[in-house]
Amino acid sequence: MVLRFCPFCANLLRFREHSSGNRFACPTCPYIYPIRSRISSRIYFTGKERADIIDAESTWMGVDSTDERCPKCSHPRAYFKQLQTRSADEPMTLFYRCCNHECAHTWRVD
Ligand SMILES: [Zn+2]
Ligand SMILES: [Zn+2]
Repeated sequence: MVLRFCPFCANLLRFREHSSGNRFACPTCPYIYPIRSRISSRIYFTGKERADIIDAESTWMGVDSTDERCPKCSHPRAYFKQLQTRSADEPMTLFYRCCNHECAHTWRVD
């Protein structure tokens, strides 16, 4: 946990649980430092999870397709989907999946 100090009296702030959100509070003055719970809708994947998601049929249901030739069976169209696969700093990775269901080859474009 990060130590925080009161900007007014330089006392070490104490952690306080509170119904409206946890906070650090100064023991000698009214200063409080609210701790916002991290609200994140982004999902990051490890390699294994990513493979599971890319392979899952549900990932590709209702996904748009585009003119992209499958490198495996030369089918002219592929579904495409962007996924955040590493950290927030990294760009989205574009994945394609062959529209030929017999093939269903999946590949990525960085
Ligand atoms: Zn203080
Ligand atoms: Zn294919």
